[in-house]
Amino acid sequence: MAEVDLHIHTTASDGTLTPAQVVQLAKKRRLKAIAITDHDTVDGVKEALEEGQRVSLEVIPGVEISANARTGSVHLLGYFVETERGILKEKLERLKQARAERNPRIVDKLNYLGVNLTYEEVVAASGGGQVGRPHFAQVLLDKGYVRSLDEAFHRYLAQGAPAYVDKFRFDVRDAIDVVLKAKGIPVLAHPFTLNCMPEELETLVADLAKEGLKGIETFYPDHTSEQTVQYQRLADKLGLVKTGGSDFHGKLLEKAELGIVGNGICLPYKIAEELMRTKHEMIQHS
Ligand SMILES: [Zn+2]
Ligand SMILES: [Zn+2]
Repeated sequence: MAEVDLHIHTTASDGTLTPAQVVQLAKKRRLKAIAITDHDTVDGVKEALEEGQRVSLEVIPGVEISANARTGSVHLLGYFVETERGILKEKLERLKQARAERNPRIVDKLNYLGVNLTYEEVVAASGGGQVGRPHFAQVLLDKGYVRSLDEAFHRYLAQGAPAYVDKFRFDVRDAIDVVLKAKGIPVLAHPFTLNCMPEELETLVADLAKEGLKGIETFYPDHTSEQTVQYQRLADKLGLVKTGGSDFHGKLLEKAELGIVGNGICLPYKIAEELMRTKHEMIQHS
């Protein structure tokens, strides 16, 4: 049975469950600890912490920041971030603005392609949280322009597709720096998305470790067992903590189940403990 899940989205970004609902679901599934890691925001953390206290479930405050590395875009997880830190809020606010500027441009491109869709419809699909491409995909599906969310991304929204709009991102070293300044633990999310050869990945991660990267998300639904082994070895070699999570988004992206990563692997509590040990070591050395 799964015990932890350290990668979860809520309505504060592009998930479909509120932070409190996520905590309740995790409790129902008998998880012992979860981390809330919304895209570029910590707005859902407070509610999750409060609900966690109410139902006696350990909630780790977190964030998932989109950034650029020399190999392409990367996602950086930050665990135990102090959400009220000025610099974190400031940086995330900047990303929020960039996102707000991006979405109307996606609408323009879709309209130009003959898709009859308004920004208001996309906002309505977001349920009041952050608006992102999954919500565009949902509207495209609802209106019958595509037959699946995957098709919406392929035909319109994915990088390289005709309605794709590049977004402003931080350099990954800045993102690491922000997480560290907010007293958090920076962890490289789902390394398979970097599409690197093993040697290239090792060089990149070693460089990032020098900048303060503390961990690698080795357990992830889309990682093959070979990749999981590869990332675990890399983490061990560089002395980095190994984390894992389902990247749960609620019902929008149904592939993920709380606490379960590829092939039904359940995440043990040990993973959260290692993260906490890293946090304590950081406190001692600061
Ligand atoms: Zn991600
Ligand atoms: Zn994620």
